[in-house]
Amino acid sequence: MKVLVINTGSSSIKYEFFAMDAEQRLAGGIVEKIGEGASAVTHEKILENGDVLKLEEQGLIPDHEHGLKRVVELLRHPEYGVVKDKSEIQAVGHRIVHGGDKLTETMVIDDKVIEALRETVPLAPLHNPGCILGIEVARAVFTNALHVAVFDTAFHRTIPPYAFMYALPWDMYKKHKVRKYGFHGTSHAYVAEQAARCLGKKPEEINLITIHLGNGGSMAAVQAGKCVDTTMGMTPLAGLVMGTRCGDIDPAVMFYLGKRLGMNLRELDILLNKESGLKGLCGTNDMRELLKKKRTGDFHASLALEMYAYRIKKYIGAYMAVMGSLDAIVFTAGVGENCAEVRSLACQGMEAFGISMDNERNCSSSRDLRRISTDDSKVKILVAPTNEELKIAQETQRKIKIRQKNH
Ligand code: ADP
Repeated sequence: MKVLVINTGSSSIKYEFFAMDAEQRLAGGIVEKIGEGASAVTHEKILENGDVLKLEEQGLIPDHEHGLKRVVELLRHPEYGVVKDKSEIQAVGHRIVHGGDKLTETMVIDDKVIEALRETVPLAPLHNPGCILGIEVARAVFTNALHVAVFDTAFHRTIPPYAFMYALPWDMYKKHKVRKYGFHGTSHAYVAEQAARCLGKKPEEINLITIHLGNGGSMAAVQAGKCVDTTMGMTPLAGLVMGTRCGDIDPAVMFYLGKRLGMNLRELDILLNKESGLKGLCGTNDMRELLKKKRTGDFHASLALEMYAYRIKKYIGAYMAVMGSLDAIVFTAGVGENCAEVRSLACQGMEAFGISMDNERNCSSSRDLRRISTDDSKVKILVAPTNEELKIAQETQRKIKIRQKNH
């Protein structure tokens, strides 16, 4: 089976195309700045020897439908393409940011699923409208393919009520669906599986803390293969210090700023989501830039890094307490996979809890799944490259196989 994975945003379409027999990436790319005049398309074809043939285009892509049609043209292009005909694309997996409280598992998309997705828009007004648009356009373009929705929130469905509830009046949950949902679930699920395999165990035999540190960041406590808590909340603003988000904060800060500076809700939203985190603290949301600044002796960059790592460390402690025992800590995504300094700071001084990092292993520049703890560390520390698109393709294939079996 060949699966096209689509991640649609309000002005972009990211895509990856896989042959699932060998879980091989055949092509991928991104259509950006849709409807903004200077749209850009970047397409990659993976050659048989592993080299990448790259095409970059500029020009107006007026809307998502034109964007996706261009993707189809590229996928069957004589030089840059990987299929002879559109009909070879039998399945399309859609990344959906928020499934709300009803869409908690991977689903084959029909009109009912789209209806239920529309109900989730108030919970994810920035992300889910783009996802719905992506589904509608893809269903119109790939009329004979099966479309499958894979939710970023789904992996967190096993979090128990005492962990997902906020201590607000009951109606806030019952009527308004205010609760923790969690995000990055596809990535947490993928690296948890990878980690179990690396340790030679079944997922249900071990307890893990998975730490996804990209531009956004979140952690998950994964007990016997099931997520039991995560740091993000009803929205991706909660938890860790992130690129531009503040993470956990006393909610009364908002009342204070509202009264003292006359800031309205929109301004507070922008402040906390877009102007805070590393960017607010030291002027850049990019960890590589932060590290450069720190090396020049920049006080703000040093403090930002300490705060970033300290928050991770606090949650490691919290999730060890939640699960009672821990087999491995797994770092993933841009910062998690590449930044030895963050990993080292987040795990330092925890030898008494059985967490002991090997500095040489931590600083190795390998890009593979690897162990960076000492040989005698009770808790293993792993670095596991994430692959959310492949996980979505796997889920899409799994769901379609179940459906074929039942028909
Ligand atoms: P996104 O959430 O946008 O997918 P990524 O997972 O690509 O983000 O992570 C982006 C972050 O990873 C940026 O802060 C970037 O600076 C950081 N990063 C990437 N490579 C390195 C590196 N070699 N050292 C430190 N940080 C890195």
